[in-house]
Amino acid sequence: MTDLVRCFVDGKPRETARRFADVNPALGRAVKDVCEAAAEDVDAAVQAAKRAMKGPWRRRSAVERAALLERVADGIDARRDEFLRAEIEDTGKPVGLASVVDIPRGAANFRAFAAQLRTMGEETYTTATDDGRGALNLVVHEPLGVVGVICPWNLPLLLMTWKVAPALAAGNAVVVKPSEETPQTATLLGEVMKSAGVDDGVYNVVHGFGVGSAGQLLVQHPDVAAITFTGESKTGAAIMKDAAPTLKRLSSELGGKNAAIVFADADLDAAVAGCLRSTFLNTGQICLCTERIYVQRSVYAAFVERLAEGAKRRVLGDPQATSTTMGPLISETHAKKVLGYYDRAQATGATVVTGGTAAAAPPGFDGGYWVEPTIWTGVGDGHALVQEEIFGPCTVVLPFDDEDEAVARANDSDYGLCCAVWTQDLSRAHRVSRAVDAGLVWVNTWYLRDLRTPFGGKKRSGVGREGGRWSFDFYAEPKNICIKL
Ligand code: NAD
Repeated sequence: MTDLVRCFVDGKPRETARRFADVNPALGRAVKDVCEAAAEDVDAAVQAAKRAMKGPWRRRSAVERAALLERVADGIDARRDEFLRAEIEDTGKPVGLASVVDIPRGAANFRAFAAQLRTMGEETYTTATDDGRGALNLVVHEPLGVVGVICPWNLPLLLMTWKVAPALAAGNAVVVKPSEETPQTATLLGEVMKSAGVDDGVYNVVHGFGVGSAGQLLVQHPDVAAITFTGESKTGAAIMKDAAPTLKRLSSELGGKNAAIVFADADLDAAVAGCLRSTFLNTGQICLCTERIYVQRSVYAAFVERLAEGAKRRVLGDPQATSTTMGPLISETHAKKVLGYYDRAQATGATVVTGGTAAAAPPGFDGGYWVEPTIWTGVGDGHALVQEEIFGPCTVVLPFDDEDEAVARANDSDYGLCCAVWTQDLSRAHRVSRAVDAGLVWVNTWYLRDLRTPFGGKKRSGVGREGGRWSFDFYAEPKNICIKL
């Protein structure tokens, strides 16, 4: 990729008048210029998508669309190294993570929704009529039209394709607004779409920011039928307001303050390893990450000690080195926010078991946004560390005595995205999983995803579900056709 990241409109790169900087967070300096979309660029993308919906794309059968999605997946695989380089440059995440999660999952999303499309049927209902002839109802699914896809920076390609793949599978055209922090892979995907033979205008990318920029312009555009959004809960609320005048369909995957519950009967090795992963993967910048761990009192001390040992073993370093296990935070602003919580913890008397400050930068990465993996104890349930989403490499560990108490405290949150339950008691696993107020529960594992299952949060963690057939519920409009026989 060149030093200029362009928008992608109507099957081609599009240069715009205004530019902003793409910062590599491991280095803390700009590495590319990005074309910011103004109102006319967003409109050009929406109009290209509208035209595509009237062109050959509209007439492509489900089987043809599935084949195209599979070719897009093959195209990502073929350009894996370029995607990896771009994603690592934008996010600073270690190659050991991006090469097994971000980029392969980007391709897998297209294959999963292509497979879903190939196996989906349509429903029919026969209806009795007084004259005895009856009627046949066919339920067909039609695309919504132009879908706006607004994405965050933490898993840029993965979360974008999680939405783009089902949107295209259902026959829509999309305008994607990637995060301003991570613009590169969305534009690269445009090139892949073009070579895979996806019709011009079906996949468009507009770069820019939220309020007063490409994000808000897309939400307010009268010709956009639906917005699928992943990001912060407060942004989700702002988008709902902006989408209301044009009555858009909305899907919102929002923030979390996810609990893990570790019972004394758990396999402690597995629970410690699982909680280390769920706390520190992607520097804690995954909506599903664990930020509060409730541990049954009899194993609490041992658990905290072993979790701290594991935290100290995280290796901060060159994102391109396979030995690196933890990258920087995404931006200076985000590092300030996370370190603000680190300071607040100290100021309010939390016990810092390990970490608690900015980290020494690895050699050669002085300007980057490095912070220490951090574990706290010694705070009450109402503390900000227990209630507010921090989105960094940190967690608070709290002791509990019995199951009902653990569930009640895990549920004492404005958020309800996911929960990890660690126990070897099968009945307890079932009981607690159902009692926990979250859209996803993992038992003795974390972030194990089957793309056919529903994904989404309760309370302030989201509105709606995507994944498998639930994605088609969002991206397609059912129509009933009643035929008198
Ligand atoms: P963010 O809400 O700041 O930004 C997300 C996207 O929305 C960006 O592209 C941004 O430019 C755009 N945006 C901002 N304001 C907008 C507006 N008013 N109108 C339209 N677009 C607007 O979120 P972020 O900081 O990029 O991502 C981190 C957040 O995302 C965390 O809260 C995390 O929990 C959440 N997240 C949730 C999930 C999930 O599936 N539930 C997954 C990943 C991240």
